[in-house]
Amino acid sequence: MRKIVLLLLLTLFGVSWLGIDAAAAAMPSAKPAVGQAVGSKNLELSQVRWANHTEALTGAAKLRLVMDVSGPVKASGVVINAPTPRLVVTVTGTTPGKGVADLTFDGQVVEKVSFDISGTDTKVTFDLPLKVEASDYKVFTLPSDAKANKPFRVVVDINKPLPLPDFSFTAGLKNKVIVIDPGHGGSDSGAIGPSRYQEKTVTLAVAQNVQDLLEKAGAKVIMTRQDDRDVFGSNATDVEELKARSSVGNNYKADIFLSIHADSFSNPAAGGTTTYYYQKTLYDSMMAEALQTSLIEAGNLQDRGARTANFYVIKRTQMPAALVELAFISNPNEEKLLSSPGFQQKMSLGIVRGLERFFDQAAKLN
Ligand SMILES: [Zn+2]
Repeated sequence: MRKIVLLLLLTLFGVSWLGIDAAAAAMPSAKPAVGQAVGSKNLELSQVRWANHTEALTGAAKLRLVMDVSGPVKASGVVINAPTPRLVVTVTGTTPGKGVADLTFDGQVVEKVSFDISGTDTKVTFDLPLKVEASDYKVFTLPSDAKANKPFRVVVDINKPLPLPDFSFTAGLKNKVIVIDPGHGGSDSGAIGPSRYQEKTVTLAVAQNVQDLLEKAGAKVIMTRQDDRDVFGSNATDVEELKARSSVGNNYKADIFLSIHADSFSNPAAGGTTTYYYQKTLYDSMMAEALQTSLIEAGNLQDRGARTANFYVIKRTQMPAALVELAFISNPNEEKLLSSPGFQQKMSLGIVRGLERFFDQAAKLN
């Protein structure tokens, strides 16, 4: 069942697409600009719109930019990597129309798109955050479709390239710098179980166990919080609080970042263990899979799998990161387990074994 849902959710469309498309639909976008000389050999690039896609399965991002042209043209792209990475698309025999202006993006896939006249062509330059390979982009044209009221189009697809992991991991836990983030704390209790047990209590207890175990194995552990408190401050916004936590990892240049949470759902029957990751490099999913396997071995709860998510602390940390949901605090049986020191210790051992398993696997990539 879950696989089907994931397939259906494979691409989530950015809001920008709908907004721009609606605007484009209200305007006859393929009409030549007013004042365009009759017999002018240059066609016009009349409208530009775009969509951001995120693959739910891998977290990989993609940008699609569509340019409407007043007639059939040829288009091709070339990648330039120095001094900064760029994709330059040439749309032959066109000039950018009046409504076509440079675009600025969030920098995930593309930072900026600019439109320039180059001889009799339009040169469309995509400033990129990272260099792309030929397999990371595609430039193609679509014929006009009178029935659908669609003009001739030039389409540019760009995938966000996964950064080449410049991490090089050795096997074992010794000397590893590991940030442990006990979820919630202080003014934020996290989820609360039917018997009023609080998520922030179990996350800290397990984090402290994990710290002990890791230090015994020779790792250096940095905790985002050592006790029951907010990391940024009690009056922080959610983003400030989460940024404070991921900054601990980034500032210490930690090898890995692990956030510990307990799950909650409206249906008290929901239960099980889940590990979340955001695929920044190959290592994120590798770490999440290793943790999930070891947590299931340790706790023997329902295996909800290693899944991708957009959570701030796993996305904005610069090192491999994972967020574990130990069990459902909203499930009366699992709430009881979460509050018991025996189960807490079992899951702590599971986490430590999972991390060890990850470093062993990652070392084999070297
Ligand atoms: Zn939580």
